[in-house]
Amino acid sequence: MSTPVYNRVALIGLGLIASSMFWAMKRGGLAGEVTGFAKSEASRETARRIGLCDRVCDSAAEAVADADLVVLCVPVGAMGAVAKEIAPHLKAGATVTDVGSVKRDVIEAVGPHLPDGVHFVPAHPLAGTEHSGPESGFAELFDNRWCLLVPVEGSDPEAVAQLRALWEGMGANVDEMDADHHDLVLAVTSHTPHLIAYTMVGVADDLRRVTDSEVIKYSAAGFRDFTRIAASDPTMWRDVFLTNKDATLEILGRFTEELFALQRAIRTGDGEHLHQYFTRTREIRRGIIEAGQDTAAPNFGREAPKA
Ligand code: NAP
Repeated sequence: MSTPVYNRVALIGLGLIASSMFWAMKRGGLAGEVTGFAKSEASRETARRIGLCDRVCDSAAEAVADADLVVLCVPVGAMGAVAKEIAPHLKAGATVTDVGSVKRDVIEAVGPHLPDGVHFVPAHPLAGTEHSGPESGFAELFDNRWCLLVPVEGSDPEAVAQLRALWEGMGANVDEMDADHHDLVLAVTSHTPHLIAYTMVGVADDLRRVTDSEVIKYSAAGFRDFTRIAASDPTMWRDVFLTNKDATLEILGRFTEELFALQRAIRTGDGEHLHQYFTRTREIRRGIIEAGQDTAAPNFGREAPKA
């Protein structure tokens, strides 16, 4: 077995991301001992039952005691309170990181609580599914996905390098990015698309006359894929929009302008505009496949549903 990157890792929050990290760390022999804590007794019990973490603790303070790396895997809106709670129990020289989908807000919420001598290296793995909870994780989640490290001013380069080694060991490609840029990029690639999916599914649900049967029965790939995204965890996504407000509103503004332009092209019969637009978007899909971030197989490589 390879030498662990960290002797002791504490996972605070035991949902999709934390559980995937645990299985990926085990797969790669990246951590000596992994402790874990989740808010509810039910999640802690589930974790114990499925062997998620070497030791599941009954408090966050107990989980982080003596940990070399503490990973905050809770919804973005809970990060500040958790940081405050664990701060007095952190070991000198430990690194605190997080996996939150928004970075500026998390840095402002967590940073002030951390004592001197504790390194803070925020991060965000660009990998997920619509499932949540301790049983949803799997070791391969981060394979060939990006993990963005967002060092803060004064982040210790050695602490950054060690965290990079952990993420690479878990299969991810690692890049570094500034927090504001991160939040804008993610507003385009993830946050706004989720909002659009929530809206589309909400609109379909409003059309009561078809919802009862036809929308579900005849759901073709487009709508079905929206429903998959719109099934994502409500708490996590509420927090994302509340904490990445400016960037999301900026992108939504642009989206609305483009939507109006397309609406106008449809009304005026401007086929040229529509064709050019769809040709450009098709190129973007090709780019994503060439970058190895999705499969070119029809229907995202899914098997046809059984009749
Ligand atoms: P999840 O499956 O819903 O799990 C969240 C976990 O946090 C649960 O174990 C929950 O405990 C725990 N928790 C909530 N508040 C807490 C608190 N105050 N103290 C301790 N534990 C608390 O969520 P997830 O999908 O893993 O997301 C975790 C983080 O990763 C979020 O910040 C999210 O933005 C980020 N992220 C998510 C994805 C994705 O696609 N899902 C991708 C990248 C990054 P209980 O189970 O007891 O309620």
